[in-house]
Amino acid sequence: MRVGIDLGGTKIAVGLVDDSGLVIGRRRSPTLRDRGYGGVKDAVISLIRGLLEEHAVPLSRVSIVGVAAAGQIDGTTQEVLFAPNLGWVKAPLKDDMESALGVPVCVENDVNAATYGEWRFGSTDRVDNLVGVFVGTGIGGGLIFGGRVYKGATNVGGELGHITLNPWGYRCNCGNTGCFEAYCGGFYVTSRIRQRIEEGYRGKIWDLISGDLEVLHPGFIEEAAALGDELCGRTWREVVEYLGVALQNIANLLNPQVILLGGRVVLGTRGLVEEAIEVMRRRAMPASIEGLTIERTKLDEDATILGVAFMNEQIQP
Ligand SMILES: [Zn+2]
Repeated sequence: MRVGIDLGGTKIAVGLVDDSGLVIGRRRSPTLRDRGYGGVKDAVISLIRGLLEEHAVPLSRVSIVGVAAAGQIDGTTQEVLFAPNLGWVKAPLKDDMESALGVPVCVENDVNAATYGEWRFGSTDRVDNLVGVFVGTGIGGGLIFGGRVYKGATNVGGELGHITLNPWGYRCNCGNTGCFEAYCGGFYVTSRIRQRIEEGYRGKIWDLISGDLEVLHPGFIEEAAALGDELCGRTWREVVEYLGVALQNIANLLNPQVILLGGRVVLGTRGLVEEAIEVMRRRAMPASIEGLTIERTKLDEDATILGVAFMNEQIQP
């Protein structure tokens, strides 16, 4: 038996997984990040204990507890070096959880885990080379080469959301300007529209959200653009173009067999992926995209749970 945990800034999801990759039980709770590292870590441990108890599985039958955290993870100590959404710096999660539970714990980056989970369990033919791009509030990336997750020299590679697509572009939360994330991340795109509405802009978008800014999300912006909303049209063309440019960069640089697209902006819009693929095709070097397929993710939340539960034991493609 294995335990996989998706530890994000807003929620914690814990899954009990058998050795074939079947999730046989789940528990979740809000992260309550204002309780600090100690409080969140204790909440994770009690979720695990509760789940195991519910399924009458003793800790001695658990071979690994994998934690997928939304942050940068030290390659040696597996400390969480920097997790802005959790508010953690240098958090010794692996050591603390191993002391508390008495079973091996591995801590991984959440997007690496999600990409690995999709690669291993979401598709029947596991290609050698795959790049995962998750466009949600922000943008995360995961790289699989030769069936292994590529983590870089110090374990923090694959930050696709922070490749610079325009050095003079929008400011990104990472401190840089013009990041892929600053152009296509859901938080940034909706913030730009929200700001204009707060300044008094009224277009089709205003009718679509019935004047309620709380419900604004990229799906509405795409829809308003299709209905002729001028501001949303301009914004959405930018999102499409920059996503396409990012795909083109990935294809030209890495020549993967599959680019896997996930996250709420991808799954909550209609034409974004197809339009971005057109942009990519127009810009990429033909040989770089020969045979390339672009797919949507299939496993949703389980991708992260399954990926991190099995990342300690990588297999051949
Ligand atoms: Zn950035």
